Amino acid sequence: MTGDGLLVPVQENLDTLVTIGELLQSPANVIDRVDTRWILQSILNTDAAFLIAHSEQLLSTDQLACFRQMIARRIAGEPVAYLTGERGFYDLVFEVTPDVLIPRPETELLVEMALSKIPSDRKCNILDLGTGSGAIAITLARHRSDACVTAVDFSPGAMAVARRNARMHAVKNIVFVEADWFSGFIREKFDVIVANPPYIAEGDPHLKQGDLRFEPLIALAARDNGLDCIRTIITQAPDYLEPSGWLMLEHGYDQADVCRELLDTAGFTCLFTRPDIAGTDRVTGGQYE
Ligand code: GLN
Repeated sequence: MTGDGLLVPVQENLDTLVTIGELLQSPANVIDRVDTRWILQSILNTDAAFLIAHSEQLLSTDQLACFRQMIARRIAGEPVAYLTGERGFYDLVFEVTPDVLIPRPETELLVEMALSKIPSDRKCNILDLGTGSGAIAITLARHRSDACVTAVDFSPGAMAVARRNARMHAVKNIVFVEADWFSGFIREKFDVIVANPPYIAEGDPHLKQGDLRFEPLIALAARDNGLDCIRTIITQAPDYLEPSGWLMLEHGYDQADVCRELLDTAGFTCLFTRPDIAGTDRVTGGQYE
């Protein structure tokens, strides 16, 4: 993949003026057209509908320079979410930086499953382990205003992003704890615990490909063939769950069976596994009696 197809026509126009429409029609094989749109939306601080309705609008010299720079970085591999500094998840947009994993559509399943277990008519304590950008915790807090959500992360950089996201979305029913999984708690108990822990095996070649190369390794990869954090969370969770509380985790495409075994061994019942939008087993959970 080279930048020529896109950069040449833009550079030819260096002294002329370029419209939104021209930039959107740049060759699709250079970078994804959707990425081009995200980048333009971010530079112009607008939405997709505006771009379509104002395709004749000219970019200022500064905007064009910014566009070229972001496209060049995208061609060099940087994830578009880190370039624009944001990513939509469930029904909100979150700030993202290289300190946090970019929220993924498949993780919305974890939110859906958690919401199905969190009653809306009584106060509940919810825990999100490894919150990263805070996308899961903040979405749950927004949808369950009577709940108290605790969001945990080990990374100070991630905590800062998550706090900013909570502020941006004016979420009040959330507290942040900088800790290694459950180590920040002594006798706190939760009704629902969710986690999207690192679960990729450390030597997995995917870690050296695509967007993953730019994401924090600590949020992606785990020892023990990717199972180290999942195992820690499942074995320790019973001490932090209310009677009949739920634990649910996102996991890798081939980890549902081992998650169920671990949950079973730890004393969980009502085990479930759900596939994500791509049909891959993605979330497994259970209830602690
Ligand atoms: N779902 C991510 C991926 O496979 C991994 C995120 C994680 O380890 N929690 O790209």
